[in-house]
Amino acid sequence: MIALAERNVPRYTSYPTAPHFTAAVDASTYAAWLAALPADATLSLYLHVPYCVEICLYCGCHTKATRRSEPLDAYAASLIDEIGLVAAVLKARRLVHLHWGGGTPSILGRDRLLRTVSAIAAHFDRSGLIEHAIELDPRCTDAALAAALAEIGITRASLGVQEFSPHVQQAIGRIQPFEVVRDAVRALRDAGITHINIDLMYGLPGQTVADVETTARLAAALEPARLALFGYAHVPWFKANQKVIDTDALPGPAARIEQARASARTLAQHGYVAIGLDHFALPGDDLAISQHAGRLHRNFQGYTTDSADALIGLGASAIGQLPQGFAQNAVDIAGYARAIAQGSFATVKGIAVNADDVLRAAIIERLMCDLAVDLDQLPNRRTGAPVALPFAQELAGLEPLASAGIVEIEGRRIVVTAEGRPFVRLVAAAFDAYLPQNRSRHSIAV
Ligand code: SF4
Repeated sequence: MIALAERNVPRYTSYPTAPHFTAAVDASTYAAWLAALPADATLSLYLHVPYCVEICLYCGCHTKATRRSEPLDAYAASLIDEIGLVAAVLKARRLVHLHWGGGTPSILGRDRLLRTVSAIAAHFDRSGLIEHAIELDPRCTDAALAAALAEIGITRASLGVQEFSPHVQQAIGRIQPFEVVRDAVRALRDAGITHINIDLMYGLPGQTVADVETTARLAAALEPARLALFGYAHVPWFKANQKVIDTDALPGPAARIEQARASARTLAQHGYVAIGLDHFALPGDDLAISQHAGRLHRNFQGYTTDSADALIGLGASAIGQLPQGFAQNAVDIAGYARAIAQGSFATVKGIAVNADDVLRAAIIERLMCDLAVDLDQLPNRRTGAPVALPFAQELAGLEPLASAGIVEIEGRRIVVTAEGRPFVRLVAAAFDAYLPQNRSRHSIAV
């Protein structure tokens, strides 16, 4: 189990995964893909804001520290221009999901957020909007911000908590006592934003099983509708801020497995249903209902009820997912802003998907969402009829996982066991045709 937990595999928030994106997809490809979407297609918008007040030591996101208003003014202007560029080529107008991620998107403040949402409203139809979500830093969430978020129509807020123990907060450079998070949740609820998510983390420096249990208990006491529990990915060669983290203080693979299980157990004791690999929800939440109905999806934001026909990524590093493939904007803010100012999309890479990719993506998504897939019941995207393909090599590749008790293979139906849930990425990896070339570029499985 420990050897398996140490294997490098993708998180499968997309398939093919981002390391396989190439410059073959550029701004003109992306423009053609957008233009080909039918007028009745439903849309989801993801807006990435790559700024924070300060950088946490453990952060793995595309973000930069700023306390000045000029970069934020310029960035909001670029986002507004990009919204106009997208609207100019798209025929589709029906928005169903809006999601702000980062970074700390609320760093834009009331006026810039309002201007950006007004630009969206000017071009798109929001009357069918199911959810308008934002990721928040509890240290920056007060009554004034909560009122501004309610004003722009936010319906769901995700708070980055990670861990409540003071010694772990010290080790990751993010000091936010329980009271800070409690007050942020109160401010949001008082403003009418009642759908609250909390993000937790295990595998952090100095973290113990007792720490994750206490954190899960305190987080559950705030009664969020959903929680996410991520394993810390230590990649200092990729994120320089992580170099300050003491590698010797990081829990080893056995401790990580124990922490993931202890946290999940504590959340289950407080009434939360496990969703896929790393999410938890109250039984009445849409995520739990979608999972029960086999309608859960997975995209770059993790598990979601979003079933839009296309996900449009806006902002530096944002990734769009269209029927034809994936397209990613320039990661560097200056390069992104330059392209948008010139009236061009900022797409720098992506991948066009073929029929094999689409089929494997469906298998991987069902495994990640339902923890089971029947290889004889995969629908043909064109006709809707079930397709049966051999996948003999992939099934043979799952045998070591079956021997370890991670999966059960019943004929051509693959079921991840309760014990195997933390290892579901390994099961999905058996169907990843790109993985053998690129294993070292992913984080460890648990
Ligand atoms: S607030 Fe979030 S995005 Fe910003 S540096 Fe900390 S972890 Fe990264």
